[in-house]
Amino acid sequence: MKGYSSDKIRNIVLLGHGSTGKTTFLEAGLLNTKVISRLGKVESGNTVSDYEKMEIEKGYTINQTLVPVEYNGTKLNFIDTPGFFDFAGEARAALSTGATAIIMVDASSGIQVGTEKAWDLVKEYNSPTFFVINKIDKDNVNVDEVVAALQDKFGTACVTLDDKDALDEAVAGADEELMEKFFEGEPFTDEEFAHGLATGIHNGDIMPILTMSALTGEGVDTVLDSLCKYVPKPATVVTPAKDADDNDIEIACDPAGDLVLFVFKTLADPFLGKISYAKVVSGTLKSGTEVYNPRSEKSEKLGSVFFVRGKSQEMTDTVVAGDMVALGKLQNTKTGDTLCAKNKQVRIPAIAFPSPCYFIAVEAADKNEDEKMAQGLSRLMEEDPTFVLERNAETHQTLLGGQGDIQLGIIQAKLKDRYGVSVNVVPQKIAYRETIKGNSDVQGKHKKQSGGAGQYGDVHIRFSPSQEPGLEFSEELFGGSVPKNYVPAVEKGLLECMEKGPLAGCKVQNIKAVLYDGSYHEVDSNEVSFKIAASLAFKKGIVEAKPCLLEPIMKLEITVPEAYVGAVMGDLPNRRGIVMGMDPTMSGTVLHAEAPQSELFDYAIALRSMTQARGSFTVEFARYAELPGNLADKVIAAYKASQEEK
Ligand code: GDP
Ligand code: MG
Repeated sequence: MKGYSSDKIRNIVLLGHGSTGKTTFLEAGLLNTKVISRLGKVESGNTVSDYEKMEIEKGYTINQTLVPVEYNGTKLNFIDTPGFFDFAGEARAALSTGATAIIMVDASSGIQVGTEKAWDLVKEYNSPTFFVINKIDKDNVNVDEVVAALQDKFGTACVTLDDKDALDEAVAGADEELMEKFFEGEPFTDEEFAHGLATGIHNGDIMPILTMSALTGEGVDTVLDSLCKYVPKPATVVTPAKDADDNDIEIACDPAGDLVLFVFKTLADPFLGKISYAKVVSGTLKSGTEVYNPRSEKSEKLGSVFFVRGKSQEMTDTVVAGDMVALGKLQNTKTGDTLCAKNKQVRIPAIAFPSPCYFIAVEAADKNEDEKMAQGLSRLMEEDPTFVLERNAETHQTLLGGQGDIQLGIIQAKLKDRYGVSVNVVPQKIAYRETIKGNSDVQGKHKKQSGGAGQYGDVHIRFSPSQEPGLEFSEELFGGSVPKNYVPAVEKGLLECMEKGPLAGCKVQNIKAVLYDGSYHEVDSNEVSFKIAASLAFKKGIVEAKPCLLEPIMKLEITVPEAYVGAVMGDLPNRRGIVMGMDPTMSGTVLHAEAPQSELFDYAIALRSMTQARGSFTVEFARYAELPGNLADKVIAAYKASQEEK
């Protein structure tokens, strides 16, 4: 790949529903430019873009891949993205570079859920957008119908480039001069037309619709041609950022400016090590340069700089603003980071990744590989920042969280493949809690006489519910029944018991304990004895004060298109959920609801199937509430059984 000047570079993200032909289109582009001699097929695992082992196995795109197509002196940097919604973070990262979007549409399927989701994304990122209707070779396709459907759904800004009337009108919108000419009925010069079109596309007022067949090659040249001509040049992209004093600034794409890089993807290549994809936002990158990472506060030497096309790499020593490049072995840099000059620090805003909504509990199949599993997962997290690894301190389970079962399945497969660790998915435990609803008044007495020194502690404690989250302890002793120096030991004894309740071994909460009487022994009493006495009192006191189990209740915000509101609301009672309110918004109806955590493990999957993947939700802990008796009995019985096993 030879060097290109900034104005000969175009950056394009391929979006769209799965299987619309994004990956195949890149094959067609490379075939047309003679980089490859025959079209690879995703089914055969021989495409340039889907080169990673897991992608070949699965037959679909998982990672964004950079595939430049050099066409008539212009370098089209394509970023291929996965269609599966589980991997939506990849498209977000790619759009964060300021690239133009292509929404690929299957001519035989028309608008699909993935088309709508891609649309939502380009609106969120204000990306200039093209529609490409692919697979026009298929039988019984009606391109005009698809065009009409796109215009109907996404507005009249969507125009085909041969629709001269609609185009003229759109071009006129670019500036006042053109508008005047248009109303006076004067034809535009070629130059004016091109300028108006470019402005309109840049502003999102014009979204060209192109057609092709990636498979037969029909129309592919025209698509590439139109992209070279009409995709906004890198110089038109202004990148918002913060300077060292946290002021808002805008970075112009200037090859002569200060060097600024934005890392939008990290790959953990099993052979080559870590590779970071970066966009040169400003300046000109020379290999060997030292840059600074304001997030990690570390410098990085750009020792290994190369252009990539899928997996193939070509070392380079110069990369200009606007281009995309791969950087090897950056030690302290991750996806979303900005790299810049140390004396001129800037930070580009973080990529807005979706937060995890689907969790599974995992264990290393071989108990000795827990550490290896954790290490492997944290390496994989570099590649995919949209999954999280959590250790639940109460249930002692390791949780993997992400967007759905496909994503988490891929992560397990990679873990096995690259790090040799097999994991088992185990039932997820709930961090139940214990508390009391009534009062009790008990004695705890510890007395032991064996050989030499004895042990003696005796306390009387009243237990009742408290508003405080943990233990609310006080004493009302008088007459020296328990010497004051033993009171802290009593409190400590109770506190330790709060960690493991008598019903099901869960944390205990909202307990008020008043130490009001007791007795002691001149010789045998000591702190340990009073601690033990307190714990005896605790066990008795909780059991006698109407104890109950509490379960975590989650707050849900579910966003669904109007048409699915009924189905989603109807499902919630089956999950012991309740709807608290409803808000109509631009992106659909937002349902505010609450449901117990134990009923929500599969909610990400269920919501997807209820709404054909059009629904989304966020979930967060709200509070604890009493676990109904029949369910509590089961939890208690299971705990008793597990204790007897021991
Ligand atoms: P992606 O998920 O959008 O990347 O789609 P792929 O490139 O993986 O293609 C999905 C399937 O559609 C594959 O079987 C391709 O061979 C097929 N395909 C892609 N483009 C065309 C086309 O123009 N015509 C026809 N008939 N099939 C195509
Ligand atoms: Mg693909």
